Amino acid sequence: MKLYNTLTRTVEEFVPNVEGKVAMYTCGPTVYHFAHIGNLRSYICEDVLEKTLRYSGYDVKRVMNITDVGHLSDDGDNGEDKMVKGAQREHKTVMEIAAYYTKCFFDDCAKLNIKTPDVVEPATNCIPEFIHMIEKLLDKGYAYKSGENVYFDTSKLKEYYVFGAQNEDELMVGVRDDVTEDPNKRNKNDFVLWFTKSKFEDQALKWDSPWGVGYPGWHIECSCISMKHLGEYMDIHCGGVDNIFPHHTNEIAQSESYLGHKWCNYWFHVQHLNDREGKMSKSKGNILTVSVVQEKGYDPLVYRFFCLQSHYRKPLEFSWDALDNANAAYQKLKKRCVEIAKEAGDAAPDKAVFDEWKAKFIDVIGNDINTSMATTLVYDVIKADMSAATKAALINSFDEVLGLDLTVEKASAEPEVDAELAAYVEEQIELRKAAKKEKNFALADEIRAKLLEKGVVLEDTREGVKWHLA
Ligand code: AMP
Ligand code: ZN
Repeated sequence: MKLYNTLTRTVEEFVPNVEGKVAMYTCGPTVYHFAHIGNLRSYICEDVLEKTLRYSGYDVKRVMNITDVGHLSDDGDNGEDKMVKGAQREHKTVMEIAAYYTKCFFDDCAKLNIKTPDVVEPATNCIPEFIHMIEKLLDKGYAYKSGENVYFDTSKLKEYYVFGAQNEDELMVGVRDDVTEDPNKRNKNDFVLWFTKSKFEDQALKWDSPWGVGYPGWHIECSCISMKHLGEYMDIHCGGVDNIFPHHTNEIAQSESYLGHKWCNYWFHVQHLNDREGKMSKSKGNILTVSVVQEKGYDPLVYRFFCLQSHYRKPLEFSWDALDNANAAYQKLKKRCVEIAKEAGDAAPDKAVFDEWKAKFIDVIGNDINTSMATTLVYDVIKADMSAATKAALINSFDEVLGLDLTVEKASAEPEVDAELAAYVEEQIELRKAAKKEKNFALADEIRAKLLEKGVVLEDTREGVKWHLA
């Protein structure tokens, strides 16, 4: 298998540390808002990478963090705390915000057939591990205390810009001109490992530490969480390209200083999803979510199909017209695949033909995750001279990686609902809403139970109350 490695800036043959096994890490979401479809492009491409590795026979262990503390709005040590901002916006506690948006993230992933990693660990679970690593960095002389915070000293490294010094200006995405430099830092690129002096009066989450009550910086979490579950050596680390600097650069700085040896061999970065105004970003507010895509009538898997049509290392521009085209192509392809599966029935595939095409698929997708060529191979199978059973088996097999539900027929149309019942349910939902507003939860529960007796199930979703027949 070949992979582009951001660290060496070349496409390399992938060789894991331990034969047959892959230790893989993914930077998880910052859970202060919904994931937008740009974030989800990264997770779709990483999901295809993981599934390609498994399909090729590797035993993969994949770990993901959930950022629920420490991420400031400019990715460096400036700006607002993202979680505090989310809590203020919604008049909730930081932990309520984290729990809600973590659930929404995984709901969206499920709709897009993105597998949940083997281990998912919120940063707030690992404070003792962070403290341990920071203590060791202080002991080894890679960190210093200044102005009540603990900083990593980048001047102690032979090379800091491991992803390419020539791009220093370009890489400085997180540092804005209008932000005053922190006077406690010895060097411009030093970064906070532990804050004890919060810039935010209402900093919600704080923990005891040898340096006083405080909270961790953002970068330390990925180093610690990955080592906790994958050990000292990692094969592949993933994220979007905006993570290259400063986040991944700082992760490498602190991890390798702590370990005293090389940490991760391959760095997989997904280019951005842009709209006409540029990069889609939670902080800019120009975000589209899976729910919006669904409300407009698209199956979320159309968006997955749209992403698979382009290469992960190329920026992708989103427009509704482009999604319409993807929708038309996806529906047509799926219709054909469903027909083939029906025609195949229970007949057995031709094993020799199956193996030959499976090897072709591994070759194509294993060439730096070429998803568009891999999708084209589905069209080639459809046209090829082989039995319907072999075609169906191959399509289902490729779909283990593509994740497009190609032979899964949509659940038949919703059962007809009597207009009178529908009007009654809507009326009851309004009454329940009013009861909840008046904090009459007993009445709200009674209404729900009464509807259930009539075979109507209510669901409280982020788009409001939805209902269906049991
Ligand atoms: P965040 O929730 O902001 O920490 O980001 C989660 C993941 O989405 C990270 O790997 C980011 O690099 C990635 N990401 C952020 N914006 C985009 C975008 N517009 N297109 C693709 N990936 C993105
Ligand atoms: Zn990370």
